[in-house]
Amino acid sequence: MALIVQKYGGSSVADAPSIRRVAQRIVDTHKAGNEVVVVVSAMGDTTDELVDLAKQVVPLPAGRELDMLLTAGERISMSLLAMAIRELGFEARSYTGSQAGMATDARHGSARIVEVNPTRIREAIDSGAIAIVAGFQGFNRGTGDITTLGRGGSDTTAVALAAALGAEVCEIYTDVDGVYTADPRIVPSAKKLSVITSEEMLELAAAGAKVLYIRAVEYARRHGVTIHVRSSFNSNEGTLVINDDGEGNMEEAMISGVAVDLSEGKITVVGVPDVPGKAAEIFTHVADTETNIDMIVQNVSTVETGLTDISFTLPKADGEKVMSALLAKQDQIGFESLLFDGEIAKIALVGAGMRTSSGISAKLFTALFEAGVNIEMISTSEIRISVVTRAEFAKTAARAIHTAFGLDGDELAVVHAGTGR
Ligand code: ASP
Ligand code: MG
Repeated sequence: MALIVQKYGGSSVADAPSIRRVAQRIVDTHKAGNEVVVVVSAMGDTTDELVDLAKQVVPLPAGRELDMLLTAGERISMSLLAMAIRELGFEARSYTGSQAGMATDARHGSARIVEVNPTRIREAIDSGAIAIVAGFQGFNRGTGDITTLGRGGSDTTAVALAAALGAEVCEIYTDVDGVYTADPRIVPSAKKLSVITSEEMLELAAAGAKVLYIRAVEYARRHGVTIHVRSSFNSNEGTLVINDDGEGNMEEAMISGVAVDLSEGKITVVGVPDVPGKAAEIFTHVADTETNIDMIVQNVSTVETGLTDISFTLPKADGEKVMSALLAKQDQIGFESLLFDGEIAKIALVGAGMRTSSGISAKLFTALFEAGVNIEMISTSEIRISVVTRAEFAKTAARAIHTAFGLDGDELAVVHAGTGR
């Protein structure tokens, strides 16, 4: 008998009929002779609606109370799902994150899992029941308070439970039927990958692919959990995210995909004195804002002025915060001015095979040149090349790269709902 953890995202349990449909799938898996533990997200856009509601009441809700409010979303879906399964004649019990033993640190809104003790979940499945666990939430032992893992945290809940229970696989059900070589909404000829390494998946997720959350993939990689990304709207095989422990079975997949990220902006610090310590100063002030920056480019300084420009990318949402932190230190750092550019696209090509082949960058730059797309920034890792272009060229650039690397499939991809979750 295999133990399977299944996670259903918000778009899969958006209304009562969907909940009944998902209940049937769970029961089918159970009837096939598996032990089933289910993790659910809040129905549809419930979490967004709760955040909006809180903000209508107060401009800055307290973290503890906001977590208490948001965890209610998953309580609604977990209990309804358990009812639906019982209606089909099977025993099901729902559990909150704390009942399921999800111990986290105390950071409200972005708590990290520190330990998972799924004793009650074990008992439930040992007694033949199906256990339904609320995603995205836990509790802190020190404060005794309820926490949330950050938006999209249900994937992490599912992977952590799969690791703690020694599950055979963690199935993540969403509204696309797997991991594609690109977002089918941007590149319609994208094709589904049957398998991808967790290392590549991490790079794709970091580069803006939304199908899996980065923390869930990191957790799976650290704990050796196999993830199967599938659609809850059909029964197609999805994509397996595996840990390639040097068995070499992934060798032939040279390029796994293209990711497009339109959520980033670019800050340019103009006229920075080209002397030791200035980059350190600038990025220390940026770090103090707790913003994750990504690509950094420093120009060669002109001899006459001894001044240079430094540009970096960051989430658009953090733009104002970082701009004001730097402006406050303008005299101390000694730069001339600051520019914010919210009209950029970051496009990344990812593939483990890059490590052992040459000419990948040349091919990518040629594809962009032939598509008439100008490159503004470039950065690379062992298995990724990223470029920044004007946002208006994002689609053109992604499609050109996708075609140049032979990733185009014959059929158009199927996308079932609008959110990608
Ligand atoms: N309901 C939470 C959110 O929307 C957690 C999740 O969906 O994974 O962020
Ligand atoms: Mg959600």
